[in-house]
Amino acid sequence: MSGSGGWEESYQVAKDLVSRMTNDEKNNITYGYASTTNGCSGNIPSLERLGFPGLCLSDSGNGVRGTDGVNGYPSGLHMGATWNKALTLSRAQFMGAEFKRKGVNVALGPVVGPLGRTARGGRNWEGFSNDPYLSGSLTYDTIMGMQESVIACVKHFIMNEQETNRNPPLTDPTALNVSVNSNIDDKTIHELYLWPFQDAVKAGVGSVMCAYNQINGSYACQNSWTQNGLLKGELGFQGFIVTDWGAQHAGLATAEAGLDMVMPSSAYWENGNLTLMVRNGSLPQSRLDDMATRILASWHRYAQIEEPGAGMPIDLLAPHPIDDARDPAANDMLLQAAIEGHVLVKNVNNALPLQKPKLLSLFGYDGVVPSINTPGGPGTFNWNFGLVSTQYALGLGDFNDTYLFENFASAAPWDAVVPGIALNGTLYTGGGSGATTPAFIDAPFDAFLRQARTDNTLMHWDFYNQEPMVNEASDACIVFINALASEGWDRPDLADSYSDKLVESVASQCNNTHVVIHNSGIRLVDAWVDNPNITAIIYAHLPGQDSGQALVEVMYGVQSPSGRLPYTVAKKASDYGRTLNPVVPTNDSLWHTQDNFTEGVYIDYRDFIAKNITPRYEFGYGLTYSEFAYSNLQTQSTSSNTTAYSTGNGTAWTSTTAWTSSPANTTSNTTAPTHPEGGDPNLWTPIASVSCTVQNTGAVAAAEVAQLYVHIPGGPARVLRGFQKEMLQPGQSCTMDFELTRRDLSEYDAAQRKWVLNKGRYEVFVGKSVLDVQLRGAVYV
Ligand code: BGC
Repeated sequence: MSGSGGWEESYQVAKDLVSRMTNDEKNNITYGYASTTNGCSGNIPSLERLGFPGLCLSDSGNGVRGTDGVNGYPSGLHMGATWNKALTLSRAQFMGAEFKRKGVNVALGPVVGPLGRTARGGRNWEGFSNDPYLSGSLTYDTIMGMQESVIACVKHFIMNEQETNRNPPLTDPTALNVSVNSNIDDKTIHELYLWPFQDAVKAGVGSVMCAYNQINGSYACQNSWTQNGLLKGELGFQGFIVTDWGAQHAGLATAEAGLDMVMPSSAYWENGNLTLMVRNGSLPQSRLDDMATRILASWHRYAQIEEPGAGMPIDLLAPHPIDDARDPAANDMLLQAAIEGHVLVKNVNNALPLQKPKLLSLFGYDGVVPSINTPGGPGTFNWNFGLVSTQYALGLGDFNDTYLFENFASAAPWDAVVPGIALNGTLYTGGGSGATTPAFIDAPFDAFLRQARTDNTLMHWDFYNQEPMVNEASDACIVFINALASEGWDRPDLADSYSDKLVESVASQCNNTHVVIHNSGIRLVDAWVDNPNITAIIYAHLPGQDSGQALVEVMYGVQSPSGRLPYTVAKKASDYGRTLNPVVPTNDSLWHTQDNFTEGVYIDYRDFIAKNITPRYEFGYGLTYSEFAYSNLQTQSTSSNTTAYSTGNGTAWTSTTAWTSSPANTTSNTTAPTHPEGGDPNLWTPIASVSCTVQNTGAVAAAEVAQLYVHIPGGPARVLRGFQKEMLQPGQSCTMDFELTRRDLSEYDAAQRKWVLNKGRYEVFVGKSVLDVQLRGAVYV
């Protein structure tokens, strides 16, 4: 740790504390213990002698998990669909303050890994988008907002792109004892997977969680190339690296490779083992000091809380004082963010907005509030959705047994459970440690009833039958379906036949059918998208507690929909190619679960465009109730430096680029950062700008999301490099401004191990989506 860039004071305080600590005391704050008094996900013990009260670490990036008296925020993917930086910042500010009121020092989020490379990935909903620019941009705001109150922990570092076989217990013979191994090259990791982490470090993130998987044959939490090299060296990360829960697989090797803290406990570092390693000369004293300094400096800078864990009762089933941490001032943001993450993708014959229907009919298992909200913390019932509940009910295994889940997902033998959906009510969050735990849930049915009361609308409903009876006199029929995903397993498919049959059944009886999908990832719709009776489709994502009211406001036109897809929806699953499925273990080598990232940076829209595959709905797509006209494209190079430029230290770190099944040639090193936080400062220098005029030419107020794509010669046809969202009244226009930094236009040169900005012409595209380009031009550097 160098202690620069805003860390100066905390660094000095931490250094002073560390200078007064024994090695055993330093060792003690590097690994967690099981608290008997609080329900934090992890705890670091206090050091009362020096006034350090310890730390409480708790999930997640979508709200405080597993306790009462907290809000259920819209999930990461939902925020990605808002494309709204200001809302993302506000959400993070309220969320961070709530964590603090609960006594949590380290909020275990946001998620930027998985980035979302695997279309069926179980945790893609926790992150914002599978585009690194959109993800990184919203991550920056999230870190800034959360760290006004607590330490954020950006996770999972790095290449954690599937759940299948993520962390098999060593005792599980079917899992063959090794976690999935992500084989990645230098260029791809820089341009795609490291990108949002770079934004997080630029924002001054206080902690990073290393992942369960291996990278190039070496476990993430003991990978010196990624931790010492990329994160602490190249990106200048000043905070501490904490393991994912149970992700430590070695003692000395992890310490040398840059790991600073182990959770929830450590078989390797306990009992003074780090002290011993220093004493016998295996581990430099400076490394142990650095661990303690990083932990204490982050605590001092962001998260001084008197009683860590005080608001997190250990047993929610036992009587306890309920510490209601909700701030009523968050309510407007909660509703607005829920509204803006809804993406309208089909709307024919002005089916929407609804105009005081006389008879409205509602169908589908997803329309109502889930049937259980247990005192185990409302969020705990998210573990009970669908497959997971059945697994637990049948005693079939722990959620970490991802290999088992993978198999069960495709061969569920029971009738009542449909793989891939949550049948027991509306889906407002995904499952697992990222699940939100709201004090209440406003389900669609509840909100539609309220509206019906106001409008005097007649309501029919059937949330139970797959082939319901539909009253032909209905002005509109709304079908609610969902697509479930959870930590611990990857989704069985991108669509399910149970829901498809339900939609088709309603549509066959109602010529104005609207489909609402609460989707925790990509959901295909081609089974029925062209059915002429289906007049509207909404991707409603995971809106959090205000799901119902948000949907009603969108569908009745209180606000025009303003969400845009943060991923590409294909016509068929195979269009995602090799990134559709997680890899599964094989028996034929020592390294059983190999994932070769041979597609490089070509995931999602980059790949669809390169292969000339027409998607169903492209990245960035979404309809409103208005129209927008684009004009007056201006481009400018602001940099006088027009010579080719390269940056970075090309010699310090080595990595393997081969598709190898042997451990990478990673370098063990504990040198100081080579750059300030966020990497080479030159990368952040603005070198060009683009602007245009957008006018609302329609009849109603609506927000437009103008998107800037760039072609970097030699790279994908288009990559997102800017976006701006503006609310415009009818007739009103505004200027959309985009600033391009050196990083935005550079490519990573693996041979030189440097970012390189090539001299020349860069094509720019401004539009409503990656395919709906309205203006074209070029910038020159
Ligand atoms: C998850 C992490 C989470 C941790 C603590 C792990 O299983 O992968 O994202 O923060 O548990 O609950």
